[in-house]
Amino acid sequence: MSDERGRLLVVSGPSGVGKSTVVRALLLRATQAWLSVSATTRPARPGEVDGVDYFFVDANGFDAMIAGGELLEWAEFAGNRYGTPRGPVEEHRAAGRPVILEIEVAGARQVRRAVDDALLVFLAPPSWEVLRARLLGRGTESQEAVARRLEAARLELAAQEEFDVVVVNAEVPDTVETLVGFLS
Ligand code: 5GP
Repeated sequence: MSDERGRLLVVSGPSGVGKSTVVRALLLRATQAWLSVSATTRPARPGEVDGVDYFFVDANGFDAMIAGGELLEWAEFAGNRYGTPRGPVEEHRAAGRPVILEIEVAGARQVRRAVDDALLVFLAPPSWEVLRARLLGRGTESQEAVARRLEAARLELAAQEEFDVVVVNAEVPDTVETLVGFLS
């Protein structure tokens, strides 16, 4: 046990900005950090593993987690619900490990209110065109799902001034080095 709580770093920003790529690289670089596994009602994409990428739950399961006060934050995004289980975040922080949440903007706002010492980072795209191209190029979503994500991205981009730091994700290694500096 460490006598210092681990930092809570919230990495947020619009869908398609590269949050998960950045966070994956950050975990390789900062091996002491722990990435929270969210619960979601979204169906698993090919290759995603339950308990690793997400806890995949149905609507009733998600309702029960809310009712039981188990979620630190939760939000609806593009037709599905996503939330951060509270217990593991607390446990890892208490053990002195930095904890990373990779979540959308509405959830980040809730963490701001719930956790005094959280550091909120907004990952911004180099431009709207870059973001649009990334969302269109992903190829794993239906046209309708992409349209919903584009609309959500437009709203999410407007929220950046609510964050402690805005980091433009132009080159992933540069972004990762910046985030490493926020972990201690
Ligand atoms: P995806 O369906 O692409 O995995 O995730 C969609 C969005 O939900 C992404 O912006 C992702 O960061 C966000 N997200 C993932 N887990 C959580 C969570 O626990 N809470 C909130 N608020 N957003 C989440």
